[in-house]
Amino acid sequence: MTRPGAGGRIEVICGCMYSGKTEELIRRMRQVMIARQPCRIFTPRLDTRYSFGHIASHTGATLGAVPVSSINEVLAQADAAQVIAIDELHFLEDTAEAILAGCQHLADQGMRVIVAGLDQDYRAAPFPGMMQLMAVAEQVDKLYAICVRCGAYATRSQRLINGRPAPTDAPTLVVGGLDLYEARCRSCYEPGR
Ligand code: ADP
Ligand code: ZN
Repeated sequence: MTRPGAGGRIEVICGCMYSGKTEELIRRMRQVMIARQPCRIFTPRLDTRYSFGHIASHTGATLGAVPVSSINEVLAQADAAQVIAIDELHFLEDTAEAILAGCQHLADQGMRVIVAGLDQDYRAAPFPGMMQLMAVAEQVDKLYAICVRCGAYATRSQRLINGRPAPTDAPTLVVGGLDLYEARCRSCYEPGR
């Protein structure tokens, strides 16, 4: 292949909380490492659930990662990588347009860009950055969790405060685990007031 930038692509791994997005990202990046392809893995600084410097699945699997706040920090450290992974993309501080432009730039240079993130916030509204990336990606995989109420496939992240649905005017980004979020299907999901 002689065309500059050949091989570039964007892969989006999306779904609700506990759907296995990080698990899938770790699986793909382990393959990349076995193939000895130069790679960089990034994780937003806002995600403080786990120690800095790692991405971590709820299964306990971890992989070393560089903490960043913005897509510009990703661009500045992409160096000569063939593969760029970004976990929890929805936590980046940038606008959707900046995230889109940054990922397109990397892929246009021939890089394989793999991003994982929530497709919807706790109000079941799309995350703009993820939404735009899905439109241009070469590959989109939507994963599902299991609804804790009925056992159907879950597509939504229910945020709870003292067992009640969080109000719609709460902050969009709140880091938390099973204490704060449940995987729910469309019919078991309860909107906040
Ligand atoms: P995500 O990155 O999408 O939040 P993770 O990769 O961190 O997902 O975690 C996925 C794992 O979470 C599953 O393999 C399973 O062990 C666990 N898990 C906890 N609750 C659920 C649930 N309701 N449905 C499916 N998996 C769950
Ligand atoms: Zn359900």
